[in-house]
Amino acid sequence: MVSVLRRPLVAGNWKMNGLRSSVAEFERIAKNCRELLPQIDLMVCPPATLLCRLAEAGRGSGVLVGAQDCHPDRSGAHTGDLSAEMLADAGAVAVIVGHSERRVDHNETDTMVQAKALAARRAGLTAIVCVGETRAQREAGETLDVLKRQLDGSLPAGGQGESLVIAYEPVWAIGTGLTPTRADIAEAHRFVRERLAGRYGTDGDAVRILYGGSVKPANAAELLRVDDVDGALVGGASLQAEEFLAIARVYAAE
Ligand code: PEP
Repeated sequence: MVSVLRRPLVAGNWKMNGLRSSVAEFERIAKNCRELLPQIDLMVCPPATLLCRLAEAGRGSGVLVGAQDCHPDRSGAHTGDLSAEMLADAGAVAVIVGHSERRVDHNETDTMVQAKALAARRAGLTAIVCVGETRAQREAGETLDVLKRQLDGSLPAGGQGESLVIAYEPVWAIGTGLTPTRADIAEAHRFVRERLAGRYGTDGDAVRILYGGSVKPANAAELLRVDDVDGALVGGASLQAEEFLAIARVYAAE
Protein backbone atom coordinates (compact mmCIF):
# COMPACT_ATOMS: atom_id res chain seq x y z
CA MET A 1 0.00 0.00 0.00
CA VAL A 2 2.51 2.61 -1.09
CA SER A 3 1.35 6.16 -0.49
CA VAL A 4 2.26 8.69 -3.17
CA LEU A 5 2.98 11.14 -0.41
CA ARG A 6 5.30 8.96 1.63
CA ARG A 7 8.15 7.12 -0.06
CA PRO A 8 8.69 3.78 1.72
CA LEU A 9 11.69 3.61 4.05
CA VAL A 10 13.34 0.33 4.99
CA ALA A 11 15.88 0.91 7.76
CA GLY A 12 18.21 -1.66 9.31
CA ASN A 13 19.12 -1.40 12.97
CA TRP A 14 22.37 -3.27 13.50
CA LYS A 15 22.21 -2.64 17.27
CA MET A 16 25.47 -3.65 19.05
CA ASN A 17 26.65 -5.78 16.14
CA GLY A 18 29.34 -5.11 13.60
CA LEU A 19 33.10 -4.82 13.34
CA ARG A 20 35.23 -3.35 10.57
CA SER A 21 34.74 -6.61 8.70
CA SER A 22 31.00 -5.82 8.50
CA VAL A 23 31.68 -3.02 6.03
CA ALA A 24 31.76 -5.75 3.37
CA GLU A 25 28.16 -6.70 4.24
CA PHE A 26 27.11 -3.08 3.87
CA GLU A 27 28.92 -2.91 0.54
CA ARG A 28 26.88 -5.91 -0.62
CA ILE A 29 23.70 -4.00 0.25
CA ALA A 30 24.94 -0.90 -1.58
CA LYS A 31 25.95 -2.89 -4.64
CA ASN A 32 22.75 -4.91 -4.98
CA CYS A 33 20.05 -2.34 -4.23
CA ARG A 34 20.17 -0.27 -7.38
CA GLU A 35 16.85 -1.45 -8.79
CA LEU A 36 15.16 -0.63 -5.48
CA LEU A 37 16.25 2.94 -4.93
CA PRO A 38 13.99 4.63 -7.43
CA GLN A 39 11.07 3.36 -5.34
CA ILE A 40 12.23 3.35 -1.73
CA ASP A 41 14.69 4.83 0.74
CA LEU A 42 17.12 2.28 2.17
CA MET A 43 19.03 3.00 5.37
CA VAL A 44 21.48 1.15 7.61
CA CYS A 45 22.00 2.24 11.24
CA PRO A 46 25.29 0.67 12.37
CA PRO A 47 26.96 1.09 15.75
CA ALA A 48 28.57 4.54 16.02
CA THR A 49 32.04 3.04 15.57
CA LEU A 50 31.14 2.19 11.96
CA LEU A 51 29.28 5.35 10.97
CA CYS A 52 32.18 7.06 9.21
CA ARG A 53 33.22 3.89 7.43
CA LEU A 54 29.73 3.08 6.17
CA ALA A 55 29.07 6.68 5.14
CA GLU A 56 32.29 6.52 3.15
CA ALA A 57 31.55 3.08 1.67
CA GLY A 58 28.01 4.13 0.71
CA ARG A 59 28.94 7.42 -0.94
CA GLY A 60 27.31 7.64 -4.36
CA SER A 61 25.24 4.46 -3.81
CA GLY A 62 22.12 6.19 -2.50
CA VAL A 63 22.02 4.00 0.63
CA LEU A 64 21.52 6.20 3.69
CA VAL A 65 23.35 5.81 6.98
CA GLY A 66 21.73 6.51 10.36
CA ALA A 67 22.71 6.35 14.03
CA GLN A 68 21.06 4.49 16.91
CA ASP A 69 20.93 7.15 19.64
CA CYS A 70 22.11 10.67 20.46
CA HIS A 71 22.56 12.92 23.48
CA PRO A 72 20.22 15.93 23.67
CA ASP A 73 23.07 18.45 24.08
CA ARG A 74 25.27 19.82 21.33
CA SER A 75 28.51 19.20 23.25
CA GLY A 76 29.80 19.14 26.83
CA ALA A 77 30.82 16.99 29.78
CA HIS A 78 28.94 13.77 28.94
CA THR A 79 31.53 11.02 28.90
CA GLY A 80 30.78 8.31 26.39
CA ASP A 81 27.87 10.13 24.74
CA LEU A 82 27.58 11.43 21.18
CA SER A 83 25.68 14.53 20.09
CA ALA A 84 23.44 14.69 17.05
CA GLU A 85 25.91 17.15 15.54
CA MET A 86 28.73 14.59 15.91
CA LEU A 87 26.61 11.92 14.23
CA ALA A 88 25.81 14.27 11.34
CA ASP A 89 29.50 15.10 11.07
CA ALA A 90 30.25 11.35 10.87
CA GLY A 91 27.88 10.98 7.92
CA ALA A 92 24.53 10.07 9.51
CA VAL A 93 21.36 11.54 8.01
CA ALA A 94 19.05 10.12 10.69
CA VAL A 95 19.05 8.85 14.25
CA ILE A 96 16.84 6.32 16.01
CA VAL A 97 15.56 7.65 19.35
CA GLY A 98 13.53 5.93 22.05
CA HIS A 99 14.17 2.36 20.93
CA SER A 100 12.60 0.07 23.53
CA GLU A 101 16.02 -1.42 24.31
CA ARG A 102 17.23 2.05 25.30
CA ARG A 103 14.02 2.84 27.16
CA VAL A 104 14.62 -0.33 29.23
CA ASP A 105 18.44 -0.58 29.42
CA HIS A 106 18.99 3.15 30.05
CA ASN A 107 15.70 4.12 31.72
CA GLU A 108 14.89 6.56 28.93
CA THR A 109 11.65 8.45 29.51
CA ASP A 110 9.38 10.06 26.93
CA THR A 111 10.75 13.46 27.98
CA MET A 112 14.31 12.33 27.26
CA VAL A 113 13.26 10.86 23.92
CA GLN A 114 11.59 14.14 22.99
CA ALA A 115 14.78 16.06 23.86
CA LYS A 116 16.77 13.70 21.63
CA ALA A 117 14.28 14.13 18.76
CA LEU A 118 14.66 17.90 19.09
CA ALA A 119 18.45 17.53 19.07
CA ALA A 120 18.18 15.51 15.86
CA ARG A 121 16.23 18.32 14.21
CA ARG A 122 18.72 20.91 15.46
CA ALA A 123 21.51 18.94 13.75
CA GLY A 124 19.56 18.43 10.53
CA LEU A 125 18.97 14.71 11.13
CA THR A 126 15.72 12.82 10.65
CA ALA A 127 14.51 11.49 14.01
CA ILE A 128 13.15 7.93 13.95
CA VAL A 129 11.05 7.87 17.14
CA CYS A 130 10.19 4.37 18.40
CA VAL A 131 6.98 3.58 20.26
CA GLY A 132 5.29 0.31 21.19
CA GLU A 133 3.57 -1.65 23.91
CA THR A 134 4.85 -4.54 26.03
CA ARG A 135 3.19 -7.95 26.03
CA ALA A 136 1.52 -7.21 29.39
CA GLN A 137 0.17 -3.89 28.11
CA ARG A 138 -1.26 -5.57 24.98
CA GLU A 139 -2.88 -8.32 27.03
CA ALA A 140 -4.39 -5.70 29.32
CA GLY A 141 -5.91 -3.94 26.29
CA GLU A 142 -3.74 -0.87 26.83
CA THR A 143 -1.95 -0.72 23.46
CA LEU A 144 -3.56 2.46 22.13
CA ASP A 145 -3.30 4.20 25.52
CA VAL A 146 0.43 3.39 25.62
CA LEU A 147 0.93 4.67 22.07
CA LYS A 148 -0.97 7.86 22.89
CA ARG A 149 1.15 8.47 25.97
CA GLN A 150 4.43 7.76 24.19
CA LEU A 151 3.54 9.89 21.16
CA ASP A 152 2.31 12.80 23.30
CA GLY A 153 5.46 12.67 25.42
CA SER A 154 8.13 11.80 22.84
CA LEU A 155 7.26 13.79 19.74
CA PRO A 156 8.79 17.21 19.23
CA ALA A 157 6.59 20.26 18.73
CA GLY A 158 6.33 22.12 15.43
CA GLY A 159 6.13 21.21 11.76
CA GLN A 160 7.83 17.95 10.90
CA GLY A 161 7.29 16.59 7.41
CA GLU A 162 9.94 14.14 6.31
CA SER A 163 12.31 15.05 9.13
CA LEU A 164 10.28 12.84 11.46
CA VAL A 165 9.67 9.10 11.18
CA ILE A 166 7.72 6.99 13.70
CA ALA A 167 8.55 3.31 14.21
CA TYR A 168 5.74 1.27 15.73
CA GLU A 169 7.55 -1.63 17.39
CA PRO A 170 5.57 -3.85 19.75
CA VAL A 171 8.22 -4.65 22.39
CA TRP A 172 7.13 -8.29 22.55
CA ALA A 173 7.73 -8.71 18.80
CA ILE A 174 11.33 -7.45 18.82
CA GLY A 175 13.80 -10.26 18.31
CA THR A 176 11.27 -12.92 19.37
CA GLY A 177 9.90 -14.22 16.08
CA LEU A 178 6.42 -13.24 17.31
CA THR A 179 4.40 -10.79 15.24
CA PRO A 180 1.07 -9.02 15.57
CA THR A 181 -1.79 -9.77 13.19
CA ARG A 182 -2.29 -7.58 10.14
CA ALA A 183 -5.41 -6.19 11.79
CA ASP A 184 -3.43 -5.25 14.92
CA ILE A 185 -0.75 -3.53 12.83
CA ALA A 186 -3.39 -1.67 10.82
CA GLU A 187 -5.14 -0.51 13.99
CA ALA A 188 -1.92 0.75 15.60
CA HIS A 189 -0.72 2.53 12.45
CA ARG A 190 -4.13 4.11 11.83
CA PHE A 191 -4.09 5.37 15.41
CA VAL A 192 -0.58 6.83 15.04
CA ARG A 193 -1.57 8.49 11.75
CA GLU A 194 -4.60 10.09 13.45
CA ARG A 195 -2.46 11.36 16.33
CA LEU A 196 0.01 12.85 13.85
CA ALA A 197 -2.83 14.66 12.07
CA GLY A 198 -4.14 15.94 15.40
CA ARG A 199 -0.72 17.14 16.43
CA TYR A 200 0.77 18.52 13.20
CA GLY A 201 -2.21 18.98 10.87
CA THR A 202 -1.30 18.48 7.21
CA ASP A 203 2.39 18.78 8.17
CA GLY A 204 1.99 15.30 9.65
CA ASP A 205 1.00 13.80 6.30
CA ALA A 206 4.62 13.36 5.18
CA VAL A 207 5.68 11.64 8.41
CA ARG A 208 6.35 7.98 7.68
CA ILE A 209 5.21 5.24 10.08
CA LEU A 210 7.39 2.13 10.01
CA TYR A 211 6.53 -1.27 11.43
CA GLY A 212 9.27 -3.04 13.39
CA GLY A 213 9.41 -6.41 15.16
CA SER A 214 10.66 -9.73 13.73
CA VAL A 215 10.32 -8.67 10.08
CA LYS A 216 11.90 -11.39 7.92
CA PRO A 217 11.86 -12.10 4.18
CA ALA A 218 9.21 -14.77 4.76
CA ASN A 219 6.72 -12.49 6.52
CA ALA A 220 7.63 -9.09 5.03
CA ALA A 221 4.84 -8.97 2.45
CA GLU A 222 2.24 -9.94 5.02
CA LEU A 223 3.42 -7.44 7.64
CA LEU A 224 4.32 -4.50 5.42
CA ARG A 225 1.57 -4.47 2.82
CA VAL A 226 -0.89 -3.05 5.28
CA ASP A 227 -2.61 0.34 5.14
CA ASP A 228 -0.63 3.14 6.80
CA VAL A 229 2.59 1.07 6.93
CA ASP A 230 5.21 3.19 5.18
CA GLY A 231 8.19 0.88 5.62
CA ALA A 232 10.06 -1.19 8.17
CA LEU A 233 12.63 -0.95 10.93
CA VAL A 234 14.51 -4.24 10.76
CA GLY A 235 16.83 -5.61 13.45
CA GLY A 236 18.24 -9.13 13.13
CA ALA A 237 17.41 -9.59 9.45
CA SER A 238 19.32 -6.42 8.50
CA LEU A 239 22.66 -8.02 9.40
CA GLN A 240 22.69 -10.14 6.22
CA ALA A 241 22.57 -8.18 2.97
CA GLU A 242 20.43 -10.75 1.17
CA GLU A 243 17.81 -10.95 3.93
CA PHE A 244 17.65 -7.19 4.26
CA LEU A 245 17.29 -6.68 0.51
CA ALA A 246 14.67 -9.41 0.27
CA ILE A 247 12.57 -7.48 2.79
CA ALA A 248 13.06 -4.21 0.90
CA ARG A 249 11.99 -5.89 -2.37
CA VAL A 250 8.46 -6.19 -0.99
CA TYR A 251 8.01 -2.56 -2.00
CA ALA A 252 9.72 -2.90 -5.34
CA ALA A 253 7.21 -5.56 -6.30
CA GLU A 254 4.19 -3.27 -5.73
C1 PEP B 1 14.45 -3.63 16.29
O1 PEP B 1 15.22 -3.84 17.20
O2 PEP B 1 14.19 -2.46 15.96
C2 PEP B 1 13.84 -4.76 15.62
C3 PEP B 1 12.76 -4.56 14.90
O3 PEP B 1 14.45 -5.99 15.79
P1 PEP B 1 14.05 -7.41 15.11
O4 PEP B 1 13.75 -7.12 13.65
O5 PEP B 1 15.23 -8.26 15.29
O6 PEP B 1 12.83 -7.88 15.81
